[in-house]
Amino acid sequence: MSIQEIKTRINNAATDAGRSGDDISLIAVSKVQPNERVQAVLETGHKTFGENRVQEALGKWPDFQQNFGEMDLHLIGPLQTNKARQAVELFGTIHSVDRPKLAITLAKLAQERGASPDIFIQVNIGEEPQKAGVLPSETDAFVAECRELELVVKGLMCIPPVQEEASLHFALLAKMAERNGLAGLSMGMSDDFEKAIQFGATHIRVGSAIFGARAPAAG
Ligand SMILES: *Cc1c(COP(=O)(O)O)cnc(C)c1O
Repeated sequence: MSIQEIKTRINNAATDAGRSGDDISLIAVSKVQPNERVQAVLETGHKTFGENRVQEALGKWPDFQQNFGEMDLHLIGPLQTNKARQAVELFGTIHSVDRPKLAITLAKLAQERGASPDIFIQVNIGEEPQKAGVLPSETDAFVAECRELELVVKGLMCIPPVQEEASLHFALLAKMAERNGLAGLSMGMSDDFEKAIQFGATHIRVGSAIFGARAPAAG
């Protein structure tokens, strides 16, 4: 589907929810995609992209930015503390802050650099053992901790369990964000972004619907 069609769907979903499409940021998830496909989207003028691996992103975005100008890059995958420096040099927003050690590392870097990245706290909304994220019961305390570290906490992020109805999880995340006074909600992917918009998503992360299927091994 063209990115233009996705933008139309976003606007329609926003209108249905009594919202403005302008309040929803479309993060085009370009991980593992061939450069030609990314370039085609860059040529439409889109500037907001997501990657889930620091190393992979470093291999392409400095070049793309040279050719297409400054981008608004979002890290949406797990971040190891030893990659945090490289991450904050490339990404303006990190959606996967999920533990004190990482928050402390990011805070130190922010102090050193004189600027904090925008962060989203990843919540393990379905309490799945194999998934990253803070547990819902620990989220309020972790939000407070990140704020004490003077990180710029924009909102909460989640990836609902694949086999479950996403709406319940989106609604829960929205409630948790609201009670913490957080405006940002990073939720919704190719298969469910319209539903996420209905429940208040401010940042949707859409990959395969824009770029086509990814190579199977890479997830
Ligand atoms: C890959 C990925 C996406 C995009 O998934 P699609 O189903 O291709 O839209 C969104 N969020 C995260 C965290 C991802 O890793």
